[in-house]
Amino acid sequence: MEKTEIVIIGSGVGGLCCGALLAYYGFKVTVCESHSLPGGAAHGFERQGYKFDSGPSLYSGLSYSPSPNPLRQVLDAIKEDVDWVQYNSWGCFLPEGYFNAEVGSNQFEEILLKLRGEAAVQQWRQLLTAIAPLSEAVMKIPTAAVRTDLGAIFTLGKFLPSMLPYLGQIPLLTGAFDRVIKGIVTDPFVYNWLNLLCFLLSGLPLEHTSAAEVAFMFADWYRPHVALDYPVGGSGAIASALVRGLEKYGGKLQLNAHVSEIIVEKQRAVGVKLRNGSEIRATKAVISNASVWNTLDLLPPSTLPEDYRRQRANTPPCDSFLHLHLGIDGTDLPQNLGCHYIVLKNWQLTAPQNLVAISIPSVLDPSLAPVGKQVIHVYTPATEPYELWANLERNSRAYQQLKQKRAEVMWQALEKIIPDIRSRCEVTLVGTPLTHERFLRRYRGSYGPALKADQGSFPGNHTPLPGLFCCGDSTFPGIGIPAVAASGMILANTLTPIEKHLSLLRT
Ligand SMILES: Cc1cc2nc3c(=O)[nH]c(=O)nc-3n(C[C@H](O)[C@H](O)[C@H](O)COP(=O)(O)OP(=O)(O)OC[C@H]3O[C@@H](n4cnc5c(N)ncnc54)[C@H](O)[C@@H]3O)c2cc1C
Repeated sequence: MEKTEIVIIGSGVGGLCCGALLAYYGFKVTVCESHSLPGGAAHGFERQGYKFDSGPSLYSGLSYSPSPNPLRQVLDAIKEDVDWVQYNSWGCFLPEGYFNAEVGSNQFEEILLKLRGEAAVQQWRQLLTAIAPLSEAVMKIPTAAVRTDLGAIFTLGKFLPSMLPYLGQIPLLTGAFDRVIKGIVTDPFVYNWLNLLCFLLSGLPLEHTSAAEVAFMFADWYRPHVALDYPVGGSGAIASALVRGLEKYGGKLQLNAHVSEIIVEKQRAVGVKLRNGSEIRATKAVISNASVWNTLDLLPPSTLPEDYRRQRANTPPCDSFLHLHLGIDGTDLPQNLGCHYIVLKNWQLTAPQNLVAISIPSVLDPSLAPVGKQVIHVYTPATEPYELWANLERNSRAYQQLKQKRAEVMWQALEKIIPDIRSRCEVTLVGTPLTHERFLRRYRGSYGPALKADQGSFPGNHTPLPGLFCCGDSTFPGIGIPAVAASGMILANTLTPIEKHLSLLRT
């Protein structure tokens, strides 16, 4: 039996941010990861010399400091970094036609002028003016200063005066984004564009996406001179930086360490039992970075109040993903190949097989592929129904046939960019909701909880079971790398004595 102060179940970005920061604060931390690689949905993996991103690849606010991005704030605190490549646009194939959407400039106004005319441009400008104070407000308080106990009076105190002028924005910020656009946006294309951005951000349409999250994104994308950031080495480089931070301050990461049960004694979480039979005892806290559904499965039935368990178990899940990971011959590819594209068939945004996201990160970082080759990740974001796959055996013919059939939409989307793609492939991997469920240990392969901002916010880090806390995309503020980094950071701050937290804020 091993002893530690804090054990964390899962090495997703949420768990690693929390663990690395707790280790920095001086706690003895052990992170148990079920998979053989760290990073959860953001892990990187390699096949035949191609380095793939398993999930996220669209980042911003990470290559400069101080930054409002909570992940950047964690990296700053633990004094770790990643090399970043900057770029400023993504290609959009929409029902209206193709355009390249830029961040950090007002180029979108030119697109609007061409597609919709002057009135749409005026609406867009009016919207930016309405969002500006919301964006200012969310940027005023760094996540590094947030904790959820009374100590917040001291850590947040010095930021409050600058926040005062924005107090009036709080009612709008705490609701869904549709309240912000009400009375401003009537143009259907502007509405659809905003709906698309919201869906890519939260997995939910505009009327259920948090206004604060959108305000944060606008602050990061539509300010002059901002850029998008891609980590050199792929998304796995972010996980590696966090693991380096964890270990530098004495924390431990155990890979292939699947937690089968949270040990509860005298109505308190006191450690975890691993699938191999060993136990890790934690004197201060057990933190679950696993999803809400996966966490409930680890707890013996009588350890949580029945109504809490039922309510949490009924959390609605977002749909899952289909993935195509390709390693291709890069001879004579189009010169202007970009890193990111989306291909949308029609504006029934959330319909299955309708929206495809494409990422070709080796155009920014050639080290991801052998010389002369490119690495590609195509996926249908949070729109693949799990039910279609639920009863299939992974080795069965029916599974292979369904894979081939459902992947077709991703090939066709990619053919818009690389017409002869099918003859270039040296590595072809098709992932399904079952792959997602298996390798990311996620219930139904879900993107995360489909919690609607107009009906309340994501739950906080605390649970009714003393000693048990949660972080990651099943907790506030929700899904996405900045959000899960924030949840990990807020929990680490809350578990830390106030003097140590204040000393971090002084550095
Ligand atoms: C395809 C895809 C594309 C995305 N694109 C973007 C993007 O471009 N930008 C962005 O900001 N966000 C993006 N996201 C969202 C973002 O990646 C996730 O919200 C975030 O990574 C989730 O992190 P997490 O820490 O909450 O959990 P996870 O990453 O799910 O990590 C949880 C970890 O816990 C482990 N675990 C679970 N159960 C156990 C157990 N019993 N024992 C031990 N370990 C366990 C799992 O193996 C996993 O490693 C994308 C997500 C996907 C899937």
